[in-house]
Amino acid sequence: MEIDAFRAALDEWLDEHEAALAPSHAGLGTLDEEMAQLAKVRRLVYDAGWSRYGWPERVGGLGGSGLLRAYLGEVLTARDLIEAGIYSMPEVLAPTMIDFASEALAAEMVPKLLRGDEVWCQGFSEPGTGSNLAALSCRAVATDEGWRVSGQKVWTSLAQYSARCVLLTRTGDADSAHRGITALFVDMDSAGISVRPLETMHGLEEFSEVFFDDVLVPFDRTLGERDRGWSIAMDLLPYERSTSLWHRGAFLHRRFGQLLSTVDPEALDPRRVGEVAQLLYAFRARSRATQRRLAMGETLGSETSIDKLLVSTAEQAVFDLVAEGLASAVTIGDDAQSRRWRAEFLYSRASTIYGGTIEIQRNIVARRLLELGSDR
Ligand SMILES: Cc1cc2nc3c(=O)[nH]c(=O)nc-3n(C[C@H](O)[C@H](O)[C@H](O)COP(=O)(O)OP(=O)(O)OC[C@H]3O[C@@H](n4cnc5c(N)ncnc54)[C@H](O)[C@@H]3O)c2cc1C
Repeated sequence: MEIDAFRAALDEWLDEHEAALAPSHAGLGTLDEEMAQLAKVRRLVYDAGWSRYGWPERVGGLGGSGLLRAYLGEVLTARDLIEAGIYSMPEVLAPTMIDFASEALAAEMVPKLLRGDEVWCQGFSEPGTGSNLAALSCRAVATDEGWRVSGQKVWTSLAQYSARCVLLTRTGDADSAHRGITALFVDMDSAGISVRPLETMHGLEEFSEVFFDDVLVPFDRTLGERDRGWSIAMDLLPYERSTSLWHRGAFLHRRFGQLLSTVDPEALDPRRVGEVAQLLYAFRARSRATQRRLAMGETLGSETSIDKLLVSTAEQAVFDLVAEGLASAVTIGDDAQSRRWRAEFLYSRASTIYGGTIEIQRNIVARRLLELGSDR
């Protein structure tokens, strides 16, 4: 289906199903409420076919361009039906499953993710290994029965809700760095996995520590080639910085609009309002070009670091303006809307950390795109 026809038909369907899709909580819900709302919306949009567009038929999709997925997330966000951050996880993990899992595994698993029957998580970061991902030490040893995994991950978003994990493990010598990493697709109910949720600054237990104690993972859950998991990490990261960021941009536009319609315009410095609008539109223009490149079948790479820099800068600028215009809501307000503004302000501080920190993105832009020296 073409994007214009998709938009028109989807908008009409959303108008008709507004009541069924609406959240049952006001403002920011508990994480359980947000997850239940997400599962409900995913099921309804999948069963009506909308979230199957833009995905290949071999994983239950209905084909068509990825622009259709970008628009679906945008419009669900614009209507405040979902929280963009937790909604976008399939945009990060499903493309990599499609690229690297066996055809049978991808065909079995991806529809469960898209329909919201399952949540998946991304087990990359470890204590002491975030930016320097290639130094990861969670180990997988090949045995007669399959892989045996032992080690720890941290900051694993939504791990406590997840049925599966895309896990990076060390299978070669530590000094082989990039070449000794293997990616596995792990069932989170396997014996030996324990999950300990961590509370973020904005008051939700959105991520977790995950411990692996001699966990058995069958060999047919290996993603891509053994010891070549680094290429999977490199494949996944640009996805993390493309369609999901487009959704994030839609969320920021929504909140910027709500801020302007909520506060007395005199309470805001017009120059700052203009600057924020400019940052938002700069990101949107950049991300639009990225979406078009994806839709044309281009492979994304380091240049998506620019998208990540622009969106995280815009996010903090939007919520700095929120803190200025709605100071009492952000600091002491106790109604549902104030709590949401406060939580989102606090969460915006993390936007320059998750998905690769702003300093690392700047290093990538300087070294790989502008060729201003090597990493070492
Ligand atoms: C809300 C949130 C959700 C997350 N979800 C997940 C998830 O689902 N799965 C997952 O695997 N991870 C997740 N993460 C972890 C995230 O990817 C890491 O926090 C991030 O990559 C940074 O790693 P680190 O925390 O170890 O910090 P470090 O790498 O220790 O960095 C500390 C500081 O040093 C700076 N620094 C480090 N190296 C350099 C360098 N070479 N040059 C310049 N500056 C440098 C960094 O920019 C940063 O300011 C999440 C993080 C957050 C905040």
